[in-house]
Amino acid sequence: MSDKKLPFSKEKIEDIIKLYPTPFHIYDEKGIKNNVRNFINSFSWNKGFKEYYAVKALPNPFIIKMLHQEGTGIDCSSMAELIIAEKCGLKGEEIMFSSNDTPAEEYVKARELGAIINLDDISHIDFLEKVAGLPELICLRYNPGKLKEGNAIIGKPQEAKYGFTRDQLFEGYKILKEKGVKRFGLHTMVASNELDPNYFIETAEIVFSLIVEISKKLNINIEFANLGGGIGIPYKPGEKPVDMKKVSSGIQECYNRIVVGNKLSPLKVFFESGRAITGPCGFLVSKVLHIKNTYRKYAGLDSSMANLMRPAIYGAYHHITVMGKEVSKCRLFHYDVTGSLCENNDKFAINRLLPEMLPGDIVVIHDTGAHGHCMGFNYNGKLRSSELLLRENGEVKQIRRAETMDDLFATLDFNGLTDFK
Ligand SMILES: *Cc1c(COP(=O)(O)O)cnc(C)c1O
Repeated sequence: MSDKKLPFSKEKIEDIIKLYPTPFHIYDEKGIKNNVRNFINSFSWNKGFKEYYAVKALPNPFIIKMLHQEGTGIDCSSMAELIIAEKCGLKGEEIMFSSNDTPAEEYVKARELGAIINLDDISHIDFLEKVAGLPELICLRYNPGKLKEGNAIIGKPQEAKYGFTRDQLFEGYKILKEKGVKRFGLHTMVASNELDPNYFIETAEIVFSLIVEISKKLNINIEFANLGGGIGIPYKPGEKPVDMKKVSSGIQECYNRIVVGNKLSPLKVFFESGRAITGPCGFLVSKVLHIKNTYRKYAGLDSSMANLMRPAIYGAYHHITVMGKEVSKCRLFHYDVTGSLCENNDKFAINRLLPEMLPGDIVVIHDTGAHGHCMGFNYNGKLRSSELLLRENGEVKQIRRAETMDDLFATLDFNGLTDFK
């Protein structure tokens, strides 16, 4: 049972707000380290196991450096993410480049860093060869189509834009082998925010069986199975975190039966988990600006969907705590908790039963450590907030400052207005 705890008290967060005004996202270093250590330890049976943290989930270099020190690689999918990898000191096969619809310069950069390139489409074999040359190690991304049920966020695999069909995979490895590529990997990712451990075990089974088939048919050596990300987290009270021990032992059973049974070990198992590592360890801290009573009760915050998009775009549940107001001891009302965008879906919660709020109350939105700050945008000229790191020793470090109006207008030339007629 997850009980939606916070890593700070009301007094502590009030002290932090004195130094760093709301809104901000704050990340719990201890929680992130625990998560990544547990994750990696669960797979200690697999020699060569590696977690490539999906940098898009929380692309802050301080977090990436921390995770790298814990032994993760990183999974990138754009130029900016490759640059973050480089700046954080990652290189070579510590970087997985799982892009799609990829611009030439990104392949060039990935090659320059020696990243493992994970091709999304068969046509990219020629494209990569032309723009950056083929490396000695290449991974192909498999889309199992109707073989596998999808889920709400990622959709049905056969409708997803990612990856090779099964036939294209065989064709792709064959072409690469003929072109002299020596080392291979296979990637698949068919879930997003999935809480059922069996889902990942079934995926591993599909991938391992396919690796056996491809290796035998084409006589190539596939070094690793990259099982992607998509491990869910308990956003709602009462949901259970994914039991990684169960996922791991289920995958180990498939590994022994399929990979070892067909004499194909060692095969390295990789993951590209983002959400499960940092998601539960981030919190968006805001203050109530206004309470509005019309046909409903509205609590208007000093943050908006520019700071956290998930509720507005996926209808996602994010737990909300009003600091110092225990649900069991307060009068409760149904609130829509809103931001200030001129968009009626700028709501963090709809009809949520919460303690009675007043302007100035501190409101904490849980589980913003993945796909939170980074999804932010500037519609209505709203600025993205700062990011803080709550260190293990209780200190707080600002790891990104808040945007300013100057940042927002940096791409405009107001002086040019003078002689514009
Ligand atoms: C988004 C993404 C991930 C991470 O997904 P999570 O749900 O954060 O674990 C991993 N790999 C690829 C290719 C992705 O696009």
